[in-house]
Amino acid sequence: MKHILLFGPPGAGKGTQAQLLVDKYKFIHLSTGDMLRDEIKRSTEIGLKAKKIIDSGQLVPDEVVAEMVRLRIKNMKDNTGIIFDGFPRTVAQACKLDEIMNDEKQEIAMMIAIDVHDEEIIKRILERGKISQRSDDRDINTIKNRIDTYNQQTAILADYYKQQKKFKSVDGIGSIEDIFQKICKLIEEA
Ligand code: AMP
Repeated sequence: MKHILLFGPPGAGKGTQAQLLVDKYKFIHLSTGDMLRDEIKRSTEIGLKAKKIIDSGQLVPDEVVAEMVRLRIKNMKDNTGIIFDGFPRTVAQACKLDEIMNDEKQEIAMMIAIDVHDEEIIKRILERGKISQRSDDRDINTIKNRIDTYNQQTAILADYYKQQKKFKSVDGIGSIEDIFQKICKLIEEA
């Protein structure tokens, strides 16, 4: 089983690539953003609290997200591997994920970062905002806050996985198919 972390700023294409990987390798897609949006849709207690935070471009508290992930993994039957998309986003979440994986006698195979510069990201998120139902994709201030949050709290995770010798990256500029091929190559080489 290969469990893979897709990494990169908002708008890098993690969700798109995750879906292609699910189709090709039958991985399970675990997106904390999707899980939180589902909580919002169902107006759960977590959803009501998360909505404000998401619309401000900040991060939902580590313990809330980590617990959602823990339960999701615990309830998974046999799987061919998990593609983590948007988790972990802080060092605390990465430590928690190590704990969860340890308890499940599993291991993260690698982190694959999709490199895209800030200007391109803003352009892509605004484009996505025209068709997605996501309010956080439409407001330029929210988008800028999400990028700041990424730079301040999430980017550092590259070092965390470099230390574990699990860090890989691909250039995220190019066609979806080209980027996908590069990611597949990394997965198959591992
Ligand atoms: P995403 O769909 O991954 O871009 O996530 C959308 C929003 O959900 C983020 O801007 C955060 O507010 C929240 N979120 C998603 N994943 C996490 C996470 N791992 N930790 C904290 N907040 C998260």
